[in-house]
Amino acid sequence: MNKKRVLVVLVSLVIAVGFLGAGDGSLAIIHMNDTHSFLLAGRDEHTGREFGGAARWKTIIDELRGDWKDVLVLHAGDFLTGSGGDYLSFERIDYDRFPLYGWRGATDVLLLNMLGFDAVTPGNHEFDYGLSWFLSILKPAKFSVLAANLTLNPIPPTKEFKKLSPVKEYEIFTRGGVKVAVIGLVTNDYLKSLQVKVRNAEEVLRTLIPDVRRKADIVVVLSHLGYERDIEVARAVDGIDLIVGGHSHHRLADYTVENGTYITQTGAWGSYVGVIDLHVKNKAIDSIDYRLIPTPNAAEDEEVLSFIEKYKATDLVLDRDLSTEDGSLYQWVLDTVQKRYKTHGAIVIDRLIKEGELKKGVVPSSDFFSIFWPYRARTAGAERDMLATQIIDVLSGDHPRSVRSLLSSGDWVSPFVVVTVTQDEIEAIKVFNERNVIAGDHLHMSFDERLPKKAKIALDLQAYRLLVLQGVLDSKTKYTLEGSELFEMLLDSMK
Ligand SMILES: [Zn+2]
Ligand SMILES: [Zn+2]
Repeated sequence: MNKKRVLVVLVSLVIAVGFLGAGDGSLAIIHMNDTHSFLLAGRDEHTGREFGGAARWKTIIDELRGDWKDVLVLHAGDFLTGSGGDYLSFERIDYDRFPLYGWRGATDVLLLNMLGFDAVTPGNHEFDYGLSWFLSILKPAKFSVLAANLTLNPIPPTKEFKKLSPVKEYEIFTRGGVKVAVIGLVTNDYLKSLQVKVRNAEEVLRTLIPDVRRKADIVVVLSHLGYERDIEVARAVDGIDLIVGGHSHHRLADYTVENGTYITQTGAWGSYVGVIDLHVKNKAIDSIDYRLIPTPNAAEDEEVLSFIEKYKATDLVLDRDLSTEDGSLYQWVLDTVQKRYKTHGAIVIDRLIKEGELKKGVVPSSDFFSIFWPYRARTAGAERDMLATQIIDVLSGDHPRSVRSLLSSGDWVSPFVVVTVTQDEIEAIKVFNERNVIAGDHLHMSFDERLPKKAKIALDLQAYRLLVLQGVLDSKTKYTLEGSELFEMLLDSMK
């Protein structure tokens, strides 16, 4: 490069930088909210046309990626659970309409990965099955989970609780030369978990925004507060460029502006995908173009369709029918437990398993979940919201009675313990069980034919507690506590 050429390059660089300050640039924000596990297409009652479904979202998002290249893909919460008043109640989930409910949000997380979402704020419905399930389905998440006003409130407090949570206050993404801070906000409305606390959004933002603004060019709030609250927040807090909203299911065909803050929301059920074309200059939105893309016109992505098809069934293929009626299902469960803990026997309390049967062949997840799912009730009691590690902590730690009593009600989530027992004790357990006819407290058990003098057996915590309370097992019997509970263990064994 000769000197003249260098000069030209330098001059043009100076000009470019002069016109285009640091942080100036363009990007598109693609967003959705309140998809509520509507991963399959729905049909419009009036037009008869199909709409929505993750396969259509994928096509639309991919096309937008092609148009812009610099995109940020956001979900403003409530990706989990469905519509209507009865979707979480005991036996009334309509699997024909919503076959993927069977996975209780686990498939939603995998599809959000597939579609390339960058960040999600948790909606209230993400906690419908309690904190434990929320954390477990988020394990494979490749996106950021953002919620600045969410604090963990473990009952009882456990040391490892904090590191279990993937939730961050905010994240700064660089797209199209622009540093975009995305701050998540959750709502307190209909929030089912007792182990989280939601702080006032305005207070949290007022503390956070000055610091975030120094690090980023623009500030986006990914909010699950609902449209009315978004307006209040925009009026009360300065320094927010854009609120990408959810929760109230408002379909905003055009953005609203409050106190210099743009507000958008795409409705619900994945009927529309929102796209915001942003030009940023001098740390502010210079121009904005926003539209909702209706889903019926989009083609369905084949890869997503086949992925969904696979997840309608589990990977479990049974070579025989299993039923609680003839006991074969209990035997399968006991064999699995025994294999897992390498013990001479296994005991499982009745209430961990609901009546039902698994048919030979590929087992649909809905059948599996309906028999073993431990988080049944919509209103999660504290004990159902607990992590297995917390339950263990309560039992082995030095906690006040009030905390210990949380475990006394008939909870279903139950980790396993391994104890060493004599043959006399095993006999005593068998005798006790024959006499004990109280429904729900019956024990299913299985032992090796030849037992050593001191045998190791695995039993769920509820069974162990029953036997100790009834004096069948010595309360001084040494035990080791294991973190897994039946549902997770069976699901793992099937993968
Ligand atoms: Zn919703
Ligand atoms: Zn909501």
